[in-house]
Amino acid sequence: VNDLKRQVHDLAGDALSDLRRLLAQPSIAASGEGIAECAALVADLFTSEGAHTQVLRSAAAAPLVVAEFPGSGGRTLLFYDHYDVQPPDPLEGWTSPPFAPVIRDGNLYARGAADNKGDLVSRIAAVRALRAIHGDLPCRVKFIVEGEEEIGSVHFGRYIEEHRALLAGDACIWEAGMRDLQERLELVAGVKGICYLDLALEATARDLHSSVGAIVEGAAMKLIWALASLKDPVTGRVRVPGFYDKVLEPTDRERAIVREIREDEAALKTFFGVTRWIGGKDGEAAKQDLYFAPTCTVCGFESGYTGPGSKTVLPRRATAKVDFRLVPDQDPEEIAELVRLHFASKGYGEITVTLLGGEKAYRAPLDDPFIQMVGRVAAEATGREVKLQPTSPGTGPMHPVGSILKVPIISLGGSYIGSRAHAPDEHIRLADFEETIYMMARIIEAFAASSR
Ligand SMILES: [Zn+2]
Repeated sequence: VNDLKRQVHDLAGDALSDLRRLLAQPSIAASGEGIAECAALVADLFTSEGAHTQVLRSAAAAPLVVAEFPGSGGRTLLFYDHYDVQPPDPLEGWTSPPFAPVIRDGNLYARGAADNKGDLVSRIAAVRALRAIHGDLPCRVKFIVEGEEEIGSVHFGRYIEEHRALLAGDACIWEAGMRDLQERLELVAGVKGICYLDLALEATARDLHSSVGAIVEGAAMKLIWALASLKDPVTGRVRVPGFYDKVLEPTDRERAIVREIREDEAALKTFFGVTRWIGGKDGEAAKQDLYFAPTCTVCGFESGYTGPGSKTVLPRRATAKVDFRLVPDQDPEEIAELVRLHFASKGYGEITVTLLGGEKAYRAPLDDPFIQMVGRVAAEATGREVKLQPTSPGTGPMHPVGSILKVPIISLGGSYIGSRAHAPDEHIRLADFEETIYMMARIIEAFAASSR
């Protein structure tokens, strides 16, 4: 066992106390509950660690916490994390209360344990371990910790734009990152974007007796038809004209990397509880779609009577939530406008289309020496097989960091596929937590060494 590993082991208990303190503080971006308090708590963690800490504020935005640890050498490693969490609902799904962190069977349970407070604390602990051994850091380390990640990072791009000098760095380690079904460590060099729409339709003056269904269509059926027109039921292709116009095809290298990813398709289908993929695709075609195809998903639908028994009614109003996961270079505002035009051309022009949140996709260059280095060091530090992915199928605010700060970005972290992020009984495995602290400390060392 080397010095660093021993040091990490010795301070893992303290790091766990820090994490429990952070998890006990609710910080629900959707409602705003505890956001200000949690930002203050995160700033306090950094200050007591000796970092130069600033809490940036902007009108109507959650505070952005920025902390800088001095170090030798000229370069700066950035860490991006977020202190906000998803709402804990449904509460009855939790074995223990979501904001009362508790250890059971070697796991730490609480809302935010995996997404993303565990990662944040493991990175601070990595800095602590290195300073305990060397007295100082071999490079500057800067943390950017936002409070609106779970609601689409609404003001994050503006913060980056306005404080680009303060937030500048040379490379960035991103939040998240899990161990997959085969216990491989996932590294992700990009994200999909998102266009999240609220659809509302009021088709009649009031709820009507459904006997007039002989001559009046009603809101529910109209909205269902409009939703059905978005997608081809056989191929799964989005039917909104212009939707694919700006899609940047993945490079041969990106396609090849996805081809190299071995996936146990049958296990994945069992895990999801499905028997087929969209369009009846299989194997390589489905895998390439998972990473590179934009999506269209009805997230919710509400109309009319859904209580017990029957009620014959022609509902006045119908609403739906729809998300599109976007790929480079699709633009969320343009996609929202294309959907409006599509509805109008189909005779559904009375549907109100509201863009609730939009983020652009981002993919970092996979051959960047920093990304390659992180892959090597992560494998070496954990003994795990590393699964490098050109993009996550999910979304995050990489675009402003990559395009404004112009740094290579790679995501890896401390959770696993069973962590239940966004769901009840969210947790991390304590063994992964310690492993991740050590891995992050090794990455900081290797980053500093690579720039000498
Ligand atoms: Zn999340």
